[in-house]
Amino acid sequence: MRGYTPGEQPQDRRYVKLNTNENPYPPSPSVARALTRVVGAELRLYPDPTAGALRDAASALYGIPREQILVGNGSDDLLTMLVRACIGPGDRIAYPVPTYSLYDTLAEIQQGEVVRVPFAADFRLPSALADANAKLTIICNPNSPSGTLTPVGELARFAAKTSGLVVVDEAYVDFADETALPLVGRTENVIVLRTLSKSYSLAGVRIGLAFGAASVLGELMKVKDSYNVNRLSIVAAVAALGDQDWMRDNVARIRATRGRLTASLRDLGYEVPDSQTNFVLARKPGVDQEAIYLGCKERGVLVRYFAVDGLRDALRITVGTEEEIDALLAALRSHQSRDHRER
Ligand code: PMP
Repeated sequence: MRGYTPGEQPQDRRYVKLNTNENPYPPSPSVARALTRVVGAELRLYPDPTAGALRDAASALYGIPREQILVGNGSDDLLTMLVRACIGPGDRIAYPVPTYSLYDTLAEIQQGEVVRVPFAADFRLPSALADANAKLTIICNPNSPSGTLTPVGELARFAAKTSGLVVVDEAYVDFADETALPLVGRTENVIVLRTLSKSYSLAGVRIGLAFGAASVLGELMKVKDSYNVNRLSIVAAVAALGDQDWMRDNVARIRATRGRLTASLRDLGYEVPDSQTNFVLARKPGVDQEAIYLGCKERGVLVRYFAVDGLRDALRITVGTEEEIDALLAALRSHQSRDHRER
């Protein structure tokens, strides 16, 4: 098998890093304060295998009982548990595409039968998804790399139609207008995944949260690594969840910059769907963007180019700080003017 290809994480040079949807702003200062209290003797001890303190904090914040919350080493870990628990050789797993390509890798590990249902051009949820009759359906919402959101009512109708498990991957939902969290508890077959990697600026800490029926989470527990989340991460995550103002301020700034970035890219001739995330997809239909990606990289700006069918004419650009977006736009403009001169 091929294996998952993560976005570049260069260690040699400082780039304006707009390729893996990290938050450009630091995490709440309460995270560092909380960490200093546990870096000593406590590290001798294994962590709580079920991260009870973090589940309690999440329970209070989201109003969902702790029995309906499971903690992962990033939401990637939760996706691994879900696919491992639900999919064996030949079992059907479905998702609309293009989407987060890790789903392909996890399905392949389990030798599942993958049903990839193409989104329509406007990224509406394809009705054929229900026909797949899959044991596990994953809907990334808002979706990556499109940045688009399927209304929650539509997700609820889809979940009611399928007998399988429906995972709503809400990695980017804090940047969006709507969440599927109210479906949890109401609809037994819905699992909602969240991460602290994006809105809470903690990609380096690796914490994801799954919300769903206690009976389903109990099955996931059977296939998880026993100590999947470390002591430091649990403490950092509790502190971050405790500072909602910090997260909301950063989200508001990113949403404002997202508006400017979208408008500027459209001025440059890109098609950009309205984004509900901390990134945008910029497309020039039929025009391969690899040279633009490389040109930006040469100028110290990293964006994401996917060398796969259907996405070669697009760049996925993370919403950075205002200054970082200025640097990106300058790189794109200078590439464009060089292009004109050469033609
Ligand atoms: N889901 C989606 C759609 C993502 O883009 C990412 C980040 N690559 C993840 C899940 C995983 O996030 P993490 O493991 O950092 O929580």
